[in-house]
Amino acid sequence: MELFYSDADLAFRDEVRSYLDDALPEDISGTFFGYGRHSWHQMIRWHKILADKGWVAPNWPEDHGGTGWSPMQQYIFDSEAMMAGAPRLRPFGLKMIGPVLIRFGSEAQKKRFLPRILSADDYWCQGFSEPGAGSDLAALKTRAVWDGDAYVVNGQKTWTTTAQHADWMFTLVRTDPDAERPQQGISMLLIPLDSPGVTVRPIITIDGDHHVNEVFLEDVRVPADLLVGEENRGWTYAKYLLGNERVSIANVGQSKAELALLKRLAANRKRGNVALIDDPVFGMKLADLEADFLAQEVTNLRMLSQVRPGQDVGALSSFLKLRGSEIQQRIQELAMEATGALAAPWREADRPRTDDYGMHGWLNSRAFTIFGGSSEVMKNIVAKQILGF
Ligand SMILES: Cc1cc2nc3c(=O)[nH]c(=O)nc-3n(C[C@H](O)[C@H](O)[C@H](O)COP(=O)(O)OP(=O)(O)OC[C@H]3O[C@@H](n4cnc5c(N)ncnc54)[C@H](O)[C@@H]3O)c2cc1C
Repeated sequence: MELFYSDADLAFRDEVRSYLDDALPEDISGTFFGYGRHSWHQMIRWHKILADKGWVAPNWPEDHGGTGWSPMQQYIFDSEAMMAGAPRLRPFGLKMIGPVLIRFGSEAQKKRFLPRILSADDYWCQGFSEPGAGSDLAALKTRAVWDGDAYVVNGQKTWTTTAQHADWMFTLVRTDPDAERPQQGISMLLIPLDSPGVTVRPIITIDGDHHVNEVFLEDVRVPADLLVGEENRGWTYAKYLLGNERVSIANVGQSKAELALLKRLAANRKRGNVALIDDPVFGMKLADLEADFLAQEVTNLRMLSQVRPGQDVGALSSFLKLRGSEIQQRIQELAMEATGALAAPWREADRPRTDDYGMHGWLNSRAFTIFGGSSEVMKNIVAKQILGF
């Protein structure tokens, strides 16, 4: 990939590397297979360090605290940070609701929320999915009824990642059940999670961790100034947000770091007398994966460099998410194969975190082709909107 870097890009990469050398504390650095292996507190610490430097929201316009970097520079920063073992920042404020507020929010909302997203004083979660409304999100039933001075919200959200840590939830609610199309009766509300009537319950996923939750909303009062944009236009804002979410899930920088880790692992493990990386069967799988990763990396850059800041990435994001999540799963599969029998005892109690490869990452990665839109749904979107079927 370095072949594609200009001299200016290389100089920028050196600047980023030297910053990471100085600024990334050793006790929070480490590359792991799978998401979320840095603790919440380590992630917040790194967020605040980047915020002090002014580098926490490279994708935001400069007048709101962005860096003014090109897509190539943003990618260089992301991949260098992942290669250096920096915690991966959660996307909910920085990549999801932040850009929505910048584009569609009121001036008061921008003033109130954006600085607190940058500083990590507020953390956000995404309350879109419901039991019965995942792929078919427009079927959502959570109801918001206007009652004099506030919306009264009743319903249930599910799979709400990090709701147990978050201060706020951006939420899709039904405000017009009689709209001609279900998409036309949906609004976006910002809900403080400490509101009376909000209950957060954990869901433990197959990797044994607590990433996601159910969120119950019972007569929760939400004042009018927490409506994003116009009533019944929430679907438009949600589509813009999901585009940014899908690009973020494609997560090319993390795949690059994990692929490097996988190669180190394969070089140090033996199959018979041969290092695993020199075993023809394993080597072929690794080469195949790396070729697909390089194609993904170049495609990602080629496509993102055509998108202007703030522009809707549209169906392109579905393509990047589809390929990116599949590649991440293949990395986890090979990591588990490389680890062999040692893959099983992945819990921290069993061995040190830095050796955390194998089964945990693999189990964790099962969800990559589901969240943010399943692969089947991404293929439908690509077929319809890019290939024109
Ligand atoms: C770990 C994890 C974290 C998540 N985090 C969040 C979060 O923070 N906030 C949030 O709002 N949501 C979150 N989600 C929810 C996620 O977006 C949904 O799970 C996803 O959209 C799929 O919806 P579903 O689970 O209801 O499955 P369903 O929609 O019921 O799909 C079931 C199966 O049917 C297939 N299918 C559905 N429709 C079609 C179709 N039209 N054509 C072909 N195949 C189809 C799907 O591909 C899938 O295989 C998370 C999910 C997971 C697993």
